[in-house]
Amino acid sequence: MPEEKIVVIGSGCAGLTAAIYAARAGLNPLVIEGPQPGGQLTTTSHVENFPGFPENISGYELVMNMRQQAERFGARFLSEVVRKVAFTAQKKQMTCDGTTLLAKAVIIATGASARTLGIPGEKEFYGGKGVSTCATCDGVFYRHHEVIVIGGGDTACEDALFLTRFCSCVYLLHRRNQLRASKIMAERVTHHEKIRCLWSRIPLNILGKDHVESLQVQRVETQETELIPCRGIFLAIGHVPNTSLFQKILPLNDQGYLLGKGVETEIPGIFIAGDCADPHYRQAVTAAGMGCSAAIMAERYLSKLDYGN
Ligand SMILES: Cc1cc2nc3c(=O)[nH]c(=O)nc-3n(C[C@H](O)[C@H](O)[C@H](O)COP(=O)(O)OP(=O)(O)OC[C@H]3O[C@@H](n4cnc5c(N)ncnc54)[C@H](O)[C@@H]3O)c2cc1C
Repeated sequence: MPEEKIVVIGSGCAGLTAAIYAARAGLNPLVIEGPQPGGQLTTTSHVENFPGFPENISGYELVMNMRQQAERFGARFLSEVVRKVAFTAQKKQMTCDGTTLLAKAVIIATGASARTLGIPGEKEFYGGKGVSTCATCDGVFYRHHEVIVIGGGDTACEDALFLTRFCSCVYLLHRRNQLRASKIMAERVTHHEKIRCLWSRIPLNILGKDHVESLQVQRVETQETELIPCRGIFLAIGHVPNTSLFQKILPLNDQGYLLGKGVETEIPGIFIAGDCADPHYRQAVTAAGMGCSAAIMAERYLSKLDYGN
């Protein structure tokens, strides 16, 4: 089996940026695209915060530009999903459905997926029609509107506070009668004049015509249903990093994010980048930044292998 110099697992912002840098360093990288070619950004219509696009750009166009840029310098793409990995300092093997690959260095950029509720209307209105999983990305589109944040942890509180900068009213909807968030965050939220906490309610149905218009909820104690008018619904019920492949192979934190020293892991030659290793920011530009760092570190690692120091 021929050994690749460098394989990038994942084709989102992190993987594609790593591919651009590795390709420009003459490493002829192979990118395994995975189940979502282009990654999460392909699901959003407007990206307004990626530097260099003053008039905004669609997420799909942005990642396709990155892909073209990587291809221009010699990156290759494989339309496969990695099902199993075996990584040691000496050998890095990846098994896909149709092929098995070996590489001298590997960059893991498998991203993360936001948890969703699975209720009617959620898929229909996701990505530009009122349902969002990223307040930092989409909050600004709801200026002067009423929105609902669903969740009860620190992220839900942070999102609710952030949204008060733009929105006329932010409802924080939680299925319990108190927040799971830290005391300080809970206090900030409950005392904020623009935030109204809606306790002990379960979201049932997202309603609207072309865009979200309301959320139907059920009260836990009485089972009564009610309709809350809103323009936006922000899901803040957590993210799941796509890292199950690496369990027992690489260290993960208690939420499943890959742990490393920067972009390096404890296995020489295995590097990590993007949302799969970032529980804090989860932004396109930070993922791209980590992809760049991982490729530079991988290039240094490979040149040490070649020159022995
Ligand atoms: C709706 C939405 C809107 C957003 N808007 C913005 C925004 O406006 N601005 C912003 O900065 N950020 C935004 N984000 C966040 C941004 O999309 C992410 O931070 C960024 O995409 C992370 O890049 P990534 O490469 O780490 O992971 P991802 O984009 O998640 O890509 C992961 C890649 O890994 C691949 N993969 C997964 N498992 C495997 C496997 N087993 N084998 C091979 N490949 C695999 C997938 O196919 C995918 O290509 C948004 C996110 C969403 C969901």
